[in-house]
This record gives sequence, structure tokens and C-alpha cells, in this order.
Amino acid sequence: MSKESKEIICSACGKESWIIRKPKYTGLTRTGEAWICSSCGYIYKSESEIDFKTVLAPDVFGQDPHIESPPAFIK
Ligand SMILES: [Zn+2]
Repeated sequence: MSKESKEIICSACGKESWIIRKPKYTGLTRTGEAWICSSCGYIYKSESEIDFKTVLAPDVFGQDPHIESPPAFIK
């Protein structure tokens, strides 16, 4: 099973589509990843902008810097 594409609801074209992950390079240095809608070609600036259709499994590779811990409200 490929990790390179996932189902999304594209915020640009509004269609059910696939996200394509591509590494971005500046010269020879990998600077991050680009996320591209396979339907319309919209390029997301950040993974947090993407509306994934399927529930994501925890990232076992620990590469997601966008996870924020929700504040704990304890009554
Ligand atoms: Zn799209």
C-alpha cells in the first residue's frame, strides 16, 4: 500500500480527489514536501490545509510537525 497518495476533498476544486506528495528541493537540498491535488493540480502550502477524506493513521515516522496538543480542560 502506497503512502504517496491519499483521498481528499480538495478545497480548491471541491472534488473528491487524491493528494500527491512530492519532495521539494532548493538546489540539492530537500526543503520539505509539496501536496498536490491530482484532480486540479492545486498545490497546498501545508499538509494542515488538506481536508483528508479518510482517517489518517498515526504517523509512525514522526515527520508531522503540525500536531498540536489540544488543551486539557478538566472539570
Ligand atoms: Zn483540486
